[in-house]
Amino acid sequence: MRTTIVFLFLLCAIPCAMSQPDDVMLARVEVTGTVSEWNIPVYAHLQEPTGKEYALVMATLATLDKSKKIYLILESTGKKAANEGYFIALERTPGARLQAGHILSVLHDDGLQIVVRATAKQVEELSMVGFDVAELDCPIIFRSPKIVESEVKHLTAIDNIVHSVQQETLRQYTGNLSGEWPVQVSGSSYTIVSRNTNSGTPIQKATQYVYEFMQTLGLNTSFHDWQSWSGANRNVIGEKRGTTKPQEIVLITAHLDSMPSSSSNSPGADDNGSGSAGVMVAAEILSQYNFERTLRFVFFTGEEQGLVGSSAYATSVSQSGENIVAVYNMDMIAWDSGGAPTLRLHTRTTSNAGYQADRAIADLFIQVVNTYVINLTPIIDADACAYSDHASFWKKGYAGLLAIEDDEDDFCGNYHTSRDKLATLNLSYFTAYVKATLGCAAHLGKIVSK
Ligand SMILES: [Zn+2]
Repeated sequence: MRTTIVFLFLLCAIPCAMSQPDDVMLARVEVTGTVSEWNIPVYAHLQEPTGKEYALVMATLATLDKSKKIYLILESTGKKAANEGYFIALERTPGARLQAGHILSVLHDDGLQIVVRATAKQVEELSMVGFDVAELDCPIIFRSPKIVESEVKHLTAIDNIVHSVQQETLRQYTGNLSGEWPVQVSGSSYTIVSRNTNSGTPIQKATQYVYEFMQTLGLNTSFHDWQSWSGANRNVIGEKRGTTKPQEIVLITAHLDSMPSSSSNSPGADDNGSGSAGVMVAAEILSQYNFERTLRFVFFTGEEQGLVGSSAYATSVSQSGENIVAVYNMDMIAWDSGGAPTLRLHTRTTSNAGYQADRAIADLFIQVVNTYVINLTPIIDADACAYSDHASFWKKGYAGLLAIEDDEDDFCGNYHTSRDKLATLNLSYFTAYVKATLGCAAHLGKIVSK
């Protein structure tokens, strides 16, 4: 009995003795009501597998106490060194959470997602064992974005667009990106055997390749260089300017970079050669039409290192006050092991100020599938999945969603391994997915009928 009392005393006394009321803490705070009304910097708004919602915040003990919210201290942020960041990581490969403990100390585990303080090398190791990783690099701006029109009226021009998507083109472009055969980059033949962000020449060639691809289409093409404490690289952007509402911008995005960490064998055909090929086909076909709104086709790098490239880009567009009305982000859209052609559209949770605006994009997608009779079964998941580049835009208060294969019940079996090859993809499912994407993008952009 006495041992227990002493032990309990120590448990309480040690953290209290070490922390001061003005020390900034990383803490888990339970979500009740709407999270936007808080006066605490929220770095993530997450949902447990049980459906319970919580926020990750960085605040002083005094602020946390004053908030009268239920909180759990994870650690003092003073512990973080200059070569470390805080990350959330989602277990994609079963058993990855068990392995995480061998890589670093886990600050929190909600049964699906973990919270960690990690160096760039540790992040790469987490990714290698089957985690999707996102950095807690800035507080979330909570606001209710403008809601896009989600009603779809059948248009012949869009019908033509949807039906001009060819399976053979998608196979070709995904093979081009995943090292199946050589491509032309800067006038020379080159085989893209890796698109890992830290691969050096291969990712440099891959970004150059998609840059030249979009330039050939006549788009306003540019590189967006980014750097953070964990590395540096470049995103690639191709823009089709809107005719009457050029200030309203629709982003069609995918991350170009791949896992595993290798400069010689990181094909990433599904993750995310598939989404990248989707952006290429969207750019190729939609560049031939006119839209009231501006369409931007964006390839990010640094996604697997914690959404680093998209975070830098979202920060930049937010700071310059750009009016991005929708972010449609594709990440892994070609794995379907059979059965129903199910896919998932991830939005924020219903308690989040951004939910209605995300939901409108998802509703539009579903209407496109029905109107243009595309063989897909979309499911809307309002679970705040924060593990791809759309989440960088959520943090800045923009509307967006993650378009992905059925990551709940039929997730890519070769995730983050060198087995993620073109031959493993379901090309008819992939083609249907890209058809719906183009229909959705054409409606979002408000096509100008010829
Ligand atoms: Zn991915």
